[in-house]
Amino acid sequence: MTVAPSIDKSALLAQLGPGVEASYPLARLTSFKVGGPADFFATVRTEDALAGLVRKAWALDLPLFVMGNGSNILLADRGIRGLVIHNLCAEVTYEESALNQDEGVPALLIAAQAGAMLPRVGREAIKRGYYDLVYATGIPGTVGGAVMSNAGAYGWCMADSLSWIRYLARDGEVRTIASGAAELRYRHSRFKDSGEIVLAAGFHLNQRREEARASELNRRRRETQPLTLPNAGSMFKNPPGTAAGALIEQAGLKGRRIGDAQISEKHANFIVNLGRATARDVKALIDLAQSSVKEPLELEVQLVGDWSE
Ligand SMILES: Cc1cc2nc3c(=O)[nH]c(=O)nc-3n(C[C@H](O)[C@H](O)[C@H](O)COP(=O)(O)OP(=O)(O)OC[C@H]3O[C@@H](n4cnc5c(N)ncnc54)[C@H](O)[C@@H]3O)c2cc1C
Repeated sequence: MTVAPSIDKSALLAQLGPGVEASYPLARLTSFKVGGPADFFATVRTEDALAGLVRKAWALDLPLFVMGNGSNILLADRGIRGLVIHNLCAEVTYEESALNQDEGVPALLIAAQAGAMLPRVGREAIKRGYYDLVYATGIPGTVGGAVMSNAGAYGWCMADSLSWIRYLARDGEVRTIASGAAELRYRHSRFKDSGEIVLAAGFHLNQRREEARASELNRRRRETQPLTLPNAGSMFKNPPGTAAGALIEQAGLKGRRIGDAQISEKHANFIVNLGRATARDVKALIDLAQSSVKEPLELEVQLVGDWSE
């Protein structure tokens, strides 16, 4: 359902309740810094508030988008219809467990609400001597967003250390599943298509050996990725056996600019916003890359909102 102009927005606003705003500018909440407003917008800080508002949107048949840190989306210039919920539920608990004592391996059990920032969780685990999430300290998203896409880097991904996921099911019930039931694979989980909302996730960490230092991996990122300009990370998934960035570079597109959007001169699988890029500029570069490279390039970044002409 789209919110047609004939529908009384103020009536909907009243039904959604206090704390919900209309026509809310969203660009600044995304890492790309582009895109238009949300019809309705709310920030939530507790799981109950999040679940309550989601249930309300479902009951009203209102389009719904739950946003984490906005670091994996390209939001349309026309904005997004329906309700956007910005998830700031960010409680995290860390508990050292003797669960694996048989093997003499201690473990760190983490329970993180979906709005917790992944780099923070990774850094806190490192402070406690656990290195499983070192790779994640450079992924600027929330736990919920990372579970959604099974985020990963340098050969590791969420699936390696997730143990359980609590989520709001489409029937409005809160359920918990083992991570094995979440269909986690390369940049995919069941939550991508199901419409279910991730509320929290549990991690089971047991890597006491520092195989890679966060500082080294993040230095590598700074050297190879355009981190000083707004972007949304890798635009395309890597096709099997090859790197999307290499294919785009081979097609001669590194540095190509449309409006204020540019295929990064530093890393061709990144598109950067040079200042006043529009979502349309970015989309034109996406189309150009997809039509110039022979192998099919599947988007890793999610196109969100109203892309109608
Ligand atoms: C500089 C940079 C580097 C990056 N490097 C990496 C990398 O190395 N590896 C990698 O995998 N990604 C990388 N990313 C992409 C991005 O940070 C990750 O995909 C991250 O996990 C997205 O989390 P988010 O909270 O920002 O999600 P958002 O962008 O807010 O949302 C992305 C999707 O997740 C959904 N979502 C968010 N929260 C929930 C929830 N609670 N329940 C259900 N769905 C939810 C949204 O609805 C949306 O569909 C990078 C991005 C940037 C800008």
